[in-house]
Amino acid sequence: MNRLALSVVIPCYNEEACLETLHARVSAAARAAVGDSFEIVLINDGSKDASWPVMQRLSAGDPHLVAINLSRNHGHQLALTAGLDLCAGQQILIIDADLQDPPELLADMRAAMAAQGADVVYAVRRKREGESIFKKLTAAIFYRALDRITDTPIPLDTGDFRLMSRRALDAFLSLPEQARFIRGMVAWIGFRQVPFVYDRHERHAGESKYPLAKMIRFALDAITGFSTAPLRFASHVGLLLTAASVLLVLYIVVAWLLGQAIQGWTSLMLVVVVLGAVQMFVLGMIGEYLGRLYVESKRRPLYLVADVAGPVRGHASLGY
Ligand code: UDP
Ligand code: MG
Repeated sequence: MNRLALSVVIPCYNEEACLETLHARVSAAARAAVGDSFEIVLINDGSKDASWPVMQRLSAGDPHLVAINLSRNHGHQLALTAGLDLCAGQQILIIDADLQDPPELLADMRAAMAAQGADVVYAVRRKREGESIFKKLTAAIFYRALDRITDTPIPLDTGDFRLMSRRALDAFLSLPEQARFIRGMVAWIGFRQVPFVYDRHERHAGESKYPLAKMIRFALDAITGFSTAPLRFASHVGLLLTAASVLLVLYIVVAWLLGQAIQGWTSLMLVVVVLGAVQMFVLGMIGEYLGRLYVESKRRPLYLVADVAGPVRGHASLGY
């Protein structure tokens, strides 16, 4: 197959205001790094704005640009998966469309990859400009909590911005799961992975496509995908409550033998309410895993492609 030196893969959802600058800056960075042997793979993840027409226009004027239109919004991680399936580079740069991660760092990331003989260079955020305190705080807590409960060491404060070798990408593409937490899956494959520290900028235009609901879903995918600690936690709580109930039973029996009737309502309500809450919580937690098991078992394609503009060079079928 006719391999290119570099593919830059960019998932886009309602990013019309970013696309032109993105195209210009990524093209310049890629050309400076590898000359002519590169492609830019833009994935339109069911945008509601004019992202797709803009992509078509850009692709008509640039043979380096491939634009893929998904059949609907599949979500950031699946859109990215589509792009990774369909790219052909020996090295693959993953980057967001909003230019929060400067494409100009490509040169330094390639240098780091070569110097350290790495298969993955992942970008670690030192600073995050122009993001809300809430976002930064929840992100900081999320990455640290995840690190404590997962069996796979997932680098802290690291997004999907990273440079990968072809063999690392092929290893990644062999993971079939539906609920995809890509930064964790890349950590899982192993090989030599090295960090690259940078400052994250403000969005070029538009606003974050990760509202709270999507953030929570993303976090749950990460936790359920990489850890069974919540299930273990449930059995520990069960054990603890069993021990407590033995003590309580002893206490009640002894009090009864001594002829001391215990006043009922308060203590009874306490036990009912606490047990009810714990049970619902644990059931919900099991439900999260069960729901994902159900989704996996349907074995649906990860994404569906509606249209393509420009030459698709990647090896995979179009996802189905
Ligand atoms: N994105 C996507 N599909 C979605 C949501 C987001 O393809 O359903 C893309 C988005 O266009 C951007 C990247 O994923 O290129 C990261 O999203 P965003 O910048 O909004 O996230 P944040 O930086 O605020 O965490
Ligand atoms: Mg962003």
